[in-house]
Order: sequence, then structure tokens, then C-alpha cells
Amino acid sequence: MSASAIERMKFDDALAAFEPVLGLETHVELGTASKMFCSCSAEFGGEPNTHVCPVCLGLPGSMPVVNASAIESTIRMGLSLNCSIVSWCRFARKNYFYPDMPKDYQVSQYDEPLCVDGYLDVVVATDDGPREFRVEIERVHMEEDTGKLTHAGGDTGRIHGADYSLVDYNRAGIPLIEIVTKPIVGAGELAPMVARAYVTELRDLMRALGVSDVRMDQGSLRCDVNVSLAPSGEPWGTRSETKNVNSLRSVERAVLFEIERQAAVLSSGGRVVQETRHFHEDTGQTTSGRSKEHAEDYRYFPEPDLVPVAPTADRVEELRGTLPEVPSVRRARLQARWNISDLEMQTLVNAEALDLVESTIDQGVDQAAARKWWTGEFTRIANEQGIALTDLPVTAAHIARVEELIADGSLTDKLARQVFEGVIAGEGDVDAVVQARGLVVVGDDSTLLAAIEQALADQPDVAEKIQGGKVQAAGAIVGAVMKATKGQADAAKVRTLLLEHLGVDG
Ligand code: ADP
Ligand code: MG
Ligand code: ZN
Repeated sequence: MSASAIERMKFDDALAAFEPVLGLETHVELGTASKMFCSCSAEFGGEPNTHVCPVCLGLPGSMPVVNASAIESTIRMGLSLNCSIVSWCRFARKNYFYPDMPKDYQVSQYDEPLCVDGYLDVVVATDDGPREFRVEIERVHMEEDTGKLTHAGGDTGRIHGADYSLVDYNRAGIPLIEIVTKPIVGAGELAPMVARAYVTELRDLMRALGVSDVRMDQGSLRCDVNVSLAPSGEPWGTRSETKNVNSLRSVERAVLFEIERQAAVLSSGGRVVQETRHFHEDTGQTTSGRSKEHAEDYRYFPEPDLVPVAPTADRVEELRGTLPEVPSVRRARLQARWNISDLEMQTLVNAEALDLVESTIDQGVDQAAARKWWTGEFTRIANEQGIALTDLPVTAAHIARVEELIADGSLTDKLARQVFEGVIAGEGDVDAVVQARGLVVVGDDSTLLAAIEQALADQPDVAEKIQGGKVQAAGAIVGAVMKATKGQADAAKVRTLLLEHLGVDG
């Protein structure tokens, strides 16, 4: 069956008949220097199979050693999610046969996770104002990432239809933390937004902790989205699990789609199949993956080559002392400091511009100007180029310099945009672009006066009109001067000079 043939029920009708239940499993790749159980580099990328050693290749006789900094990061993550940290736990072997793990097992945690029973409060915007929602956390546990398979020769990049597959073990053994929520019930029609808000808040929290760069587009934050529907008033139904959803917007869309799809299945007397599904960015739909009707038997058992993890209470308290300000608290603090409205703050958050704006203001730029550049011009350019705002080569220092030049009258807003265009195109820093492109305000009075006189000569009736009291006729001359100076004059100044020249009061 093709994806487009999937039956759906309208969202509102689906919500009237069923209660959605969500579960989010989020994987965060830690930004440690080395891998989870060996000293290989954990850096992203690199020539395939160059960040490998006998341990992460699972060669016989090699012995793993736990990365202490990965454990500390996990404890800090657990604490920031209001979890209890257990005083003793072990790793477990999850046995399976697949070429992405050369050992034929993944070292993970099973029935003894390091952090348990936490929560994360999220806020969603509704028509009746912001609503807070508590998402309960079941567990936070450690595991190692798998290698990366590339299926070549087919159209889809999936294994079906591929001619051959390539394996890169650089990623195998990179510390991966999995955060699993308890079933999220009671969100109703807000379920898609709650899912998105949760992943957003989680990402911001992890970023504030500095444990990961949490880039969904690069896979350092990945999310599996579980959704089920229960007829209202009844216990919950069978869930589907949409794997590796890789943007915040897709998390929201995947939940929405699954609610509409499952409602159609159930109301036509069908049965939701317990399976993994794939989300397709282009259509916003999910399609069937692997059936999970028969639970796989991973033959978990405690990892015999690693010592248990047993953080002391003192150490846990020490780590608690290193927790950063919670993102929601920080947002409230910055909003008050900058004296901006809820809506203005929301705009910054939605544009992913909060950090950038803060560092720009720290460079002495006025808050309104900092917000304007990041959420206006730069957001537009980033969207156009299909990249993240943070990936633009513009820095707070560039903005500070441009604003300085605007303040002293050397640049207009329009010229400033051209300066940034040059900076983004890699033409150098602000002063270099100004020089190379000759972007300076034509400010020298005699040049401007010459242009004004020329414009007045070209439009002989205008001077009379202005002197006769129709001051708004000045616009025609100012426009002509701007054109003559290729937009490099300050329009307000041209107007003042013109009126002075004609002996008229502005
Ligand atoms: P698995 O390894 O099979 O994916 P996990 O226990 O790791 O199972 O994760 C399942 C996720 O789905 C958890 O977040 C859990 O809260 C959630 N979940 C469990 N039952 C349901 C359900 N009926 N509907 C939606 N989500 C569910
Ligand atoms: Mg799962
Ligand atoms: Zn290694």
C-alpha cells in the first residue's frame, strides 16, 4: 500500500472518540572526548573506520573501561530531570545479530538504570493562554551508540532494493543516553504540541548542561515517538513506535498523523498493529516498519566485563551543585531584564535565537536591535539557505561593529544589510566588506547638495511646490537623490539639507 492510501480521520473527530497516549524515547549522544568504553575519539565524522580499536570493534580479549565523564554527565542529566540517582547499578548486554554492532551485542542498561522517576514541566500555548504540563520520566540510562550503515545502489537509501551496504564503526561505542517518559495521558488535543514542547525543553536543558550539542539534524538528539489511542474511559490501546524522528516539527506532525491514522483504523473496526514506523518529512506521514507483535528476545544479562556503577551520595550532591539555571527560569529572567512581552520572547524562542541574542546584547548591542537582526534578516537568510541560525557565519561581534557604524552615521539600515550579506558570503569581516563594497553613507554635504541641485533641475516644478507649502513634495527629490547615490545616503539627512537649501522649515 502506498503512503498516500493511508486512511485518516479528521483530528477533531479522532479526539472526540479517542484519548491519545504518548511515550517519548529520546537518545542524546554525549559530547565526551572519547567513547563510552575505550579511548577512541568520539568526534562526529572522520574517515570511515578510523576512530576504532579492539574494544569498540569487539575483538576477542579486549576489555572495556567505563568513561567516568559519561557517567557524570548522565547523573547531571538525571538530576536536571528531577530523577533519583540509584546508588548501585550495572550495565547489561543486549544481544542481537546485526552488522551495526561488531560485538553482536550492545552494552546498555536494562533493569538497573542509573536514574529513575523524574519529571520535566513543559508549557504549551493554547487559545486560553499558556498551559503547563508535567511529563513524567521513567528512566535515564546509558548505552553505546551503534555503527552506521550506508545502503547503496537503491533509490531510498533503505536496505530494501540496495545493491550493497557499507559499515562505518566510528560511531560505534559513542556514549548514548536514553531518556524514556512514562506514558503521557490527558494531553487530549494538545498531545502533538506537548510532544514537541517536551523534546524542545529537553533539548534546551541538555544544551544548558553542556553535555551534548543536541543537534536533531545531525543525529545527536533523536526521538522515537510512541502513540496509542484508547476509546475514552477505557484502558489504553496498542501503540505504534515511530523511530528516529529528526526535527521538532516532525515530532509534532508524527503524533498528529498517528492519532488520525489510528483513529481511522479503530473506528473502521480494525486493530492497531504494534510495530515500528518511519516518518516521512516530505508527506508528513508514517509508514509501517518492523512488527513488534512478538517481543524480540535480546537475552539481556549483566555485563561481566564492567564493574558496577556506584556513585556516592556526596558525589551526587557535588554534581547537583554544578547544574545550570533551568531554561524556563532563564527565559523568565531574560524577558524581565530586556523588558519584552511574552510574544516577543516567544518569537525569540521559536526562532532559536535566544542564545544568539543574549550574546549579542552582551557585546553592548541594544536589545531591540539584537532581536531585530536575528529574528528578521538572519532568520530569513538561514531559512533561504536551509541552515540553522547558529550555522550562519555572523557573530555578535559583527553585529556590534555594524551597530557602531550605524550609530555614528556611517551606515544606514539598508547598507548594513548589504554588509551582512557580504559577511555571510565570506567576503571578510565588517570593515573589510564596507571597504571592498564601498558601502559608506554618502554623508559629505557638498556631494549631497550637488545631487539635490541636480534633482531639482530635473524636476523643475517641485521646488516651487515645496516653497509654496507642499512640503510632502520633498519625497520626490529625496527619492531621486537616494537613487543617484545608489541608496548610500541617509534619507533623513537629504531631506533636511533639501529644506535648508530651499529655505523652508521642516
Ligand atoms: P520499547 O523498548 O519497546 O520501545 P520502552 O519501555 O523502552 O519500550 O518505551 C516505550 C515507551 O512508550 C515509553 O515511553 C512508554 O511510556 C510508552 N508507552 C508505553 N505504553 C504505551 C501506550 N499504550 N501508548 C503510548 N505510549 C506507551
Ligand atoms: Mg523503544
Ligand atoms: Zn575504540
